[in-house]
Amino acid sequence: MGRVYNFSAGPAVLPEPVLKEAAEEMLDYRGTGMSVMEMSHRSPEFQQIIDEAEQDLRDLMHIPDNYKVLFLQGGASQQFAMIPMNLMKNRVADYIVTGQWAKKAYQEAQKYGKVNKIASSEDKTFSYIPDCSDLPISPDADYVYICENNTIYGTKFKELPNTKGKTLVADVSSCFLSEPVDVSKYGIIYGGVQKNIGPAGMVIVIIREDLITEDVLPGTPTMLTYKTHADAGSLYNTPNSYCIYICGKVFKWLKSMGGLEEMKRRNEEKAKILYDYLDQSSLFKGTVEPASRSLMNVPFVTGDKELDAKFVKEAKEAGLVNLKGHRTVGGMRASIYNAMPKEGVEALVAFMKKFEEENA
Ligand SMILES: *Cc1c(COP(=O)(O)O)cnc(C)c1O
Repeated sequence: MGRVYNFSAGPAVLPEPVLKEAAEEMLDYRGTGMSVMEMSHRSPEFQQIIDEAEQDLRDLMHIPDNYKVLFLQGGASQQFAMIPMNLMKNRVADYIVTGQWAKKAYQEAQKYGKVNKIASSEDKTFSYIPDCSDLPISPDADYVYICENNTIYGTKFKELPNTKGKTLVADVSSCFLSEPVDVSKYGIIYGGVQKNIGPAGMVIVIIREDLITEDVLPGTPTMLTYKTHADAGSLYNTPNSYCIYICGKVFKWLKSMGGLEEMKRRNEEKAKILYDYLDQSSLFKGTVEPASRSLMNVPFVTGDKELDAKFVKEAKEAGLVNLKGHRTVGGMRASIYNAMPKEGVEALVAFMKKFEEENA
């Protein structure tokens, strides 16, 4: 079997040129006679890999000089604890709960201080982003937390919340590098890379320098202190070196494609193909309020569980895989990240049309 169109939410599709290049370099990375997997993380070759990866990411996102870029392990979920441990000086934080990932972060933070849920969309199964223009921000909040793109429910903040001067912390796991962002509006931007960037097992944290201090909560492990990793250039201990190498290749691929402005254009074009079809279909329905729709994760249902299952099965047989919705939502979900070509979305919509005709 050849390559399929993989709509997985994560680990997810990667750009084919990146996979091919990695395959070519697998046994002998540029004359070193070894794979990057076998290479010392203290070697000059690896230092160049991580330095270039950081620089390319800085170029892509126009990251200001007063922000550090950290390549850390523990995935996005580890940040749910690391953020309060490092940022809770007053032991107060405000959370906007727009889905399972935000909820998990909210629950984890409660181990460390007083955590306020200042907005939520749980009343309608997280199918929208609440109005965040005038929220009851706590005067002593150390930060305001959001999950910017909700992978499971398929919603995205189109406007950042008004934090009334408080530091904004955002989990961007599933929208990382999908469009341009103004980094200066955030204190921390972080994301697990296995959604829209690279292989599983790493999180990238972009953090404003004044938030990197030794003044962390008592008992915070050395490994969970941002300063440890910032001071060591993400090489305090052995990093996920192969993941950094692949992410670096993806950054170069994104640059070659025209950067984040071009990715936004492409992502809008791809998402429109699917949403336009959903809006006129009499069988399939999108589950998200149009104003909150994600460009990356598109959940939809037929309203009939058996028909949903039939669709997922037949789509798989047609080479359109991993369309089953999250276990908590049911139905289907198509994740159409940067590396999903427009042809993949067109093939999906053609298949949905055919299925609709056959099952009318
Ligand atoms: C997948 C995901 C996570 C969890 O990532 P891990 O790397 O598995 O910990 C957190 N937040 C969002 C938005 C996600 O999509």
